[in-house]
Amino acid sequence: MKQSFVIIGLGRFGGSICRTLVESGQEVLAIDSSEDRVNEYMNIATHAVVANAQDEMTLRSLGIRNFDHVIVAIGEDIQASILVTLMVKEMGVPDILAKAQNEYHARVLEKIGADRVVHPERDMGQRIAHNLISKNILDYLELSDEFSLAEINVSNRKFYGKTLDELDFRQRFGLNVVAIRRGKQDPIVTPAAEEVVQKDDHLVVIGRDEDVDYLDEKMN
Ligand code: ADP
Repeated sequence: MKQSFVIIGLGRFGGSICRTLVESGQEVLAIDSSEDRVNEYMNIATHAVVANAQDEMTLRSLGIRNFDHVIVAIGEDIQASILVTLMVKEMGVPDILAKAQNEYHARVLEKIGADRVVHPERDMGQRIAHNLISKNILDYLELSDEFSLAEINVSNRKFYGKTLDELDFRQRFGLNVVAIRRGKQDPIVTPAAEEVVQKDDHLVVIGRDEDVDYLDEKMN
């Protein structure tokens, strides 16, 4: 379904979101106070406008409140990011995603009503660190303080040729296998209990951090 998005701030983060949304066929209004940045996105975004998003009249005249989602992707200027998020919230936009620079910034954004707060540098750092610590953990996403989603390479022969049911993931490991990646083929999403695990499969699992670590140890 086609949805409408406003992206405020066309740095690396906002720019990358803009490209991906447009490639997925979504409608995107891109805003930046820098003319150079806007020129760069003129032929990419559905509409691109040079404007200072801190100016409430400008935001109103652009009809921001009629969009489904607003992404506040202002980088360094924390004060601007907070003010813009607050104004967009007051205009009644149904879904606001804001980028935080640090933990304090994130807390303020949550308090003033951002529906989602992301911290791309920190999150990417965590993903890469887990991948550096363990050669079996190929990707890692923290879902909360206790739970995560991880993609784990099946490198222990004890797992090969057994079904998910026989391996008893839920009971033995407390983990749910939500997908299996096998070579170049499309991932097997929500695999059946009879699915046979093969050498070099990648299991995408969800569970408690300690359970993910335990499975990781078992792969060695
Ligand atoms: P990133 O880490 O995503 O590369 P940047 O700091 O490079 O972040 O990018 C943030 C963008 O937000 C810049 O292009 C900047 O011009 C834009 N920006 C900052 N403040 C405002 C504002 N008040 N209104 C509109 N755009 C803004």
